[in-house]
Amino acid sequence: MNCRGCGAELTLTFLDLGMSPIANNLVEAKKLNHQNKNYPLRAMTCEKCSLVQLSEVIPKEMLFPASYTYFSSYSSTWLEHSKAYAEKMISLLQLNQNDIVIEIASNDGYLLQYFANSKIQVLGIEPAAGVAKAAIAKGIPTLINYFGESIAVELAKGKKPKLMIGNNVLAHVPDIHDFIKGFSALIADEGVITFEFPHLLNLIKNTQFDTIYHEHYSYLSITALLPIFAQYGLRVINVEKLLTHGGSLRIFVAKKISNWIKHESVQDTINEESQYDPRDIKIYKSLQVVTEGIKNDLLSELIQCKKEGKSISAYGAAAKGVTLLNYCGIGSDLIDYVVDLNPNKHGKFLPGSQIPIVDINVLDTTLPDILLVLPWNLSIEIKSQLSSYLKSGVKTIRAIPKVEYF
Ligand SMILES: [Zn+2]
Repeated sequence: MNCRGCGAELTLTFLDLGMSPIANNLVEAKKLNHQNKNYPLRAMTCEKCSLVQLSEVIPKEMLFPASYTYFSSYSSTWLEHSKAYAEKMISLLQLNQNDIVIEIASNDGYLLQYFANSKIQVLGIEPAAGVAKAAIAKGIPTLINYFGESIAVELAKGKKPKLMIGNNVLAHVPDIHDFIKGFSALIADEGVITFEFPHLLNLIKNTQFDTIYHEHYSYLSITALLPIFAQYGLRVINVEKLLTHGGSLRIFVAKKISNWIKHESVQDTINEESQYDPRDIKIYKSLQVVTEGIKNDLLSELIQCKKEGKSISAYGAAAKGVTLLNYCGIGSDLIDYVVDLNPNKHGKFLPGSQIPIVDINVLDTTLPDILLVLPWNLSIEIKSQLSSYLKSGVKTIRAIPKVEYF
């Protein structure tokens, strides 16, 4: 297998999490007795360009079927983050009704709505028909398609966007070259592209191994992305650190030929990344050891609770939870059910562990002693949501960055 960034042969294992089912393929009740297919969940590092990527490439149609049910609008934290971003970009680029903003992987229109509210023209491009139709129903024009060079060349015949957005999509793209070529072909000469992605640095520093799942083909750093951008006449002009997803980067990208001045944050980030180089044997060996330690700590704590007769449930049927539970070998023997706010998930089961997903109001009748919070990145929001249950004595525990009650 070769690096999707530079083409070099991949030989270094960054982190091996064994076998796991596809995280977002929730299981319907009638299919419970069928075997879930497992695939290797192993991240490799390119020795040449440092890009971290999965060893197993599962076709994108299998990972993101039309029934894909992640609706961005269900998280209030995410909506606030999106609104603040839109206001900032409208002011930075002085966007008005004559401009168009194009977002790739626009989901249910959660972000573009804030531009549309300010009378700016918008277009979303989203391959998952279910969420795309929700966007169209809200009045957000959306093309149901994958993004790449060919669709970009077609769109470039019309008005070129001053702003293009790719939030939490770069990691999901199997052909990163075709994808970046698309941005390069479509963006206006003085336009800006912003990408947000979970920063590899935080995965390493905080042992966020559960952010590794098959839907994430790549684990990104500026160091690995710069040469790909350069190949298509693009450069990074600014970097912001965000708290989302346990620590993300928002990078601002413009054409090489543009007048934008490079901010010192770009070099600062590269310097910081060099201290956590994923090709360094000390770095990846230690990550594997600490990951295994978390598995041992979580299993012993949950088993101890069971021995004491306590009941355990989980919160949040998120993809990262599927990685955690499967890697740790936790099933419905330890966890009774997982509550989730998204009604589309209710009545289904987590792949692999086969833990049932239920409405949060189930907590009203069957209050567990322990609640394992799977989306640890939303810990604060979740605790405030659960405040009435916490007063009744439920204890919340999380596994990342370490096993702890919080
Ligand atoms: Zn490479």
